[in-house]
Amino acid sequence: MMRQYELVDRVRRYNPDTDEALLDRAYVYAMRAHGTQLRASGDPYFSHPLEVAAILTDLELDDATIVAALLHDTIEDTGATKAEIEKLFGKQIADLVEGLTKIKKLDLVSKQAKQAENLRKLLLAIADDVRVLLVKLADRLHNMRTLKYVPQEKRDRVAQETLDIYAPLAARMGMQDMREELEDLSFRQLSADAYTSITTRVEELRERNGPLVEEIERELQDELSARGIPARVKGREKRPYSIWRKMERKAIGFEQLSDLYGFRVIVQGVEDCYRALGVVHMKWPIVPGRFKDYISTPKPNDYRSVHTTVIGPRRQRVELQIRTQDMEDIAEYGIAAHALYKDESGAQSIILSNESRAYAWLRKTIENLSQGLSPEEFLEHTKLELFHDQVFCFTPKGRLIALPRRATPIDFAYAVHTDVGNTAVGCKINGTIAPLVSELKNGDEVEIITSKAQTPPGAWETIAVTGKARAAVRRATRTAVRAQYAGLGRKIAERAFARAGKAFGEEALAKAMPRLARTSLDDVFAAVGRGEIKTDDLIRAVYPDWSAPRPDERGTGGRAPTGEGWFELKKGQNLKFKIPDAAEHPAAIPIRGINGDLPVRFAPNGGAVPGDRIVGILTPGEGITIYPIHSRELQHFEDAPERWLDVRWDVDELTDGRFPAQIVVTAVNEPGSLAQVATGIAERNGNIEGISMRSRSPDFTEMVIDLGVFDLRHLNGIISDLRSRAVVSSVERSSG
Ligand code: MN
Repeated sequence: MMRQYELVDRVRRYNPDTDEALLDRAYVYAMRAHGTQLRASGDPYFSHPLEVAAILTDLELDDATIVAALLHDTIEDTGATKAEIEKLFGKQIADLVEGLTKIKKLDLVSKQAKQAENLRKLLLAIADDVRVLLVKLADRLHNMRTLKYVPQEKRDRVAQETLDIYAPLAARMGMQDMREELEDLSFRQLSADAYTSITTRVEELRERNGPLVEEIERELQDELSARGIPARVKGREKRPYSIWRKMERKAIGFEQLSDLYGFRVIVQGVEDCYRALGVVHMKWPIVPGRFKDYISTPKPNDYRSVHTTVIGPRRQRVELQIRTQDMEDIAEYGIAAHALYKDESGAQSIILSNESRAYAWLRKTIENLSQGLSPEEFLEHTKLELFHDQVFCFTPKGRLIALPRRATPIDFAYAVHTDVGNTAVGCKINGTIAPLVSELKNGDEVEIITSKAQTPPGAWETIAVTGKARAAVRRATRTAVRAQYAGLGRKIAERAFARAGKAFGEEALAKAMPRLARTSLDDVFAAVGRGEIKTDDLIRAVYPDWSAPRPDERGTGGRAPTGEGWFELKKGQNLKFKIPDAAEHPAAIPIRGINGDLPVRFAPNGGAVPGDRIVGILTPGEGITIYPIHSRELQHFEDAPERWLDVRWDVDELTDGRFPAQIVVTAVNEPGSLAQVATGIAERNGNIEGISMRSRSPDFTEMVIDLGVFDLRHLNGIISDLRSRAVVSSVERSSG
């Protein structure tokens, strides 16, 4: 813990006129007041106000602010009173501590009306004296730094509030460093996986690039000094949260991020900023559209700088911020930087001076309080001002959900609860049914319609803009796919045991799990479904004495067991299938949503259409391929009966989906025959998706036509139509 004299030293370093006796009194008073209280970390409680004070010495703030930091938790948590503090430390400090006490209990992630009221209170307390906000931000920063000691269930809430309210407030006040650290700490809590993945990749990149940043710094600095512009160049990596935001905003991956490094060029005067810009632009190619002049037009939080991006040293995309030291101070410390320039009347008047645009914003916002806005209107107004890159939506019960710009109801649903997201099937926006992919606007009231039978489509992963939704969709689809494989694996296993004439039992299988190196039956089945465990091995795990029949016992030239009713094949014969009667196979695997994101696909060339007899062929690691039973391709799988799956259509009668079918038309080689064929198909509402033609003889042309049809009847109708035409000599379906 920092000693009394250490704190005084830190203050004296930037403020030689500091009132040491005052600081000492506050140190002792707070230490005694907190007495033996402990923090969740087990540290003495007093270490917290002390750390908060230390953070504020980094911002080089005045004595009153440092003292208020030391005392900020005394009224709330100890026997101290405002009257006592006023007597000992004066009215100004007592007011600051009281202001901090007032806002301490404000819950800013509560219901909408309550939240509006709380935000109003927060801003009012800040308006009285903006130093309240500075202490509050330092307080929150220290709490976020020590978040790991806070009970798990509270952490998300604290982090969310920090990200929603305090980080944007710090940004509004121009306190860049404060904002970045608050954001990163919140991000680490709220999206731990994303945080780790980004920091790991940045780390890898740093190792790979070696001294790249230093080299660019040196080259820039040398170039500028050769042109007579003394400058300090400082490169740094972008912060994890800012990288994350960029990835989210642009929906790109880490590898596609082009500028992970930013370089600051600190020069001596405003004129030098522009001269330096000229030097950089002459030496290296400019990346268009990236030049911004915040010196002639400062940002609302007083930020001033010129920005540009060039393809710089070592062909790296280099983002530059060129500014003076004064501008740099404002950029880093924002409103707190104004405290650096004290005058006779003391820091208070400086901090409140109208020289700060950030403060002007605060004043204006507070003014709205007196304009009789309802709490909701006030909240809307203030939040819009605070968070221009977010949208605020509400649940039907009035809970506020803050989302990034371009968020969809899918993001909304996952923000409410993962279960809501996973079961979402539709939504109402402001009472009207709307697509789940709509872009949400500020103030939208969103009602999510859920259905227990739903699992999220994998495509949502690319539609959602929030990391939370994306991660949840990925998790849910992974689980769903796994469940399908497990279901599939179970059928395969049952069939394999039956074929081997062995009893199938879960208990026996459970005992065999160690031999299969799996820890649950689900695991076993999923592995069988994925083709990772062969059925022979599965049976042997349960019946070690069992041996698989040798290939020739399975039939010459690939004969499937006829008992299954699949097909018979003798060497030299053509493929001829005996179609299993559906009644014999009541446990057929249904193919749900065959065009969806199941690991199911159609065989290339010809596919299958509803009404076709079909079989599924399991390909380990890939999924199931659906073949029409007339496909010649099937002969390749004759030796692997365990890969054959009994599948059936599960297509709604009314579906308007089209399915791929391929036909081969042989037509007379004369002008207009193609047109006739095309007309025949069109008249029957068939879709031609591709045609290739080859000449069979001088008299006949063969056309291979890819069609989109609704079902077998539709296809047969087209085929008979074509066959009836004089120019057509034959029409057959492709046999794959
Ligand atoms: Mn505190």
